[in-house]
Amino acid sequence: MTTRAFVIAITLACTMLYDWAGIAAETGVTTRGVAAPTDLPAAATDMRIGGDEKQTRFVVDLNRKIDLTAFTLADPYRVVVDLPQVTFNLPAKAGEQTRGLVKAFRYGLIMQGGSRIVLDTKGPVRLDKAFVLDAAEGQPARLVLDLVATDRASFMRNITLEKHPAHKASLRPSEVAPKVDGDIRPLIVVDPGHGGIDNGAKGSGGELEKDVVLAFAQTLRDKLESGGKFRIAMTRSDDTFIPLAERVRFARTHGAALFISVHADALPRNEGQAEGATVYTLSENASDAEAARLAEAENKADAIAGVDLTTEPDDVANILVDLAQRETKTLSMQFARTVIGELKSTARLHKHPLKSAGFKVLLAPDVPSVLVELGYMSTKDDLKQLTSATWRARTAQALAQSVDTFLTSRIAGTGGGRN
Ligand SMILES: [Zn+2]
Repeated sequence: MTTRAFVIAITLACTMLYDWAGIAAETGVTTRGVAAPTDLPAAATDMRIGGDEKQTRFVVDLNRKIDLTAFTLADPYRVVVDLPQVTFNLPAKAGEQTRGLVKAFRYGLIMQGGSRIVLDTKGPVRLDKAFVLDAAEGQPARLVLDLVATDRASFMRNITLEKHPAHKASLRPSEVAPKVDGDIRPLIVVDPGHGGIDNGAKGSGGELEKDVVLAFAQTLRDKLESGGKFRIAMTRSDDTFIPLAERVRFARTHGAALFISVHADALPRNEGQAEGATVYTLSENASDAEAARLAEAENKADAIAGVDLTTEPDDVANILVDLAQRETKTLSMQFARTVIGELKSTARLHKHPLKSAGFKVLLAPDVPSVLVELGYMSTKDDLKQLTSATWRARTAQALAQSVDTFLTSRIAGTGGGRN
């Protein structure tokens, strides 16, 4: 993918504004209105889109003025706006609004202290203006983006080779189990899928996969911790976006004995019904069409979050080279079978519960890894279970038991822990 970032950093209010779509011209030098305490995140209170397919204006009301960085990405065409941490109190379904050049948009936390808005556009656009106005004349502070339709050739010409700087250093998983000196207990990395700007699948009542899997992962962590045999770390313990490669890197650099990624699936409308849990391992060839469809959906996280993939280091390429690591594959498969054995008696399983596909999050060559799809957000009975604390506790207990069974037999079999 030749996605590159076109970066416009705007830290000062634009002083040459014009009146359009109800935005009053002003200099932006003085702040009127009530100033919010600056140690709290700014809040987005409302938004609107105006204009047509030639020119579109995107406005977000804010409780105070903040800085922004905006840039465009291709394939698919997106506009990305990076902000300091913002609490989004936008109307439900705000992101589904379609108008002019905007197809849809997402917003959320992308790292600690940093939020992002990503707009999907109908085609190549030029970012004509991007600024934040001070509150004035009884109007709140406003973030304003002006998009103008362009053609692909001009769009690509405008893209600079400069790499997007904002999200490089700080995208780090947020929680590491404290490592006590001499603690040789195996480390289990629990990876709740999605987070922040990336909601994952959606239930019919607006339930979000990122919330469902975080709640499950926290329960699983507690169950594993209470056994006392393992150290546990989570790739995220709050609603933050973590890129897929970062999750893999986290497990590798901490020398994890096992990596468990937790997700919940949803079938696209008109694609029938399915139910129950499925356990996935990594394979270059998907085991069936559904596995291929799902891997593609789960691998989209970075595109959804607007992460510029050209900033990814070469790790992923190196990992692919190492993919031949047979032992890891064998162990991942053994663990997947153990999980299914345990889940069989406590949870509903998919009719083909063991599958494989090219999930990027399972790429660690040296950490046995599985991805558990707990069930289908798109299936009523599954969704009921996924959001039930009783089901969560029972299923997390079964999963914790399978970790115990797998690692205990491994340790017994090799006469020592990992390595
Ligand atoms: Zn998912």
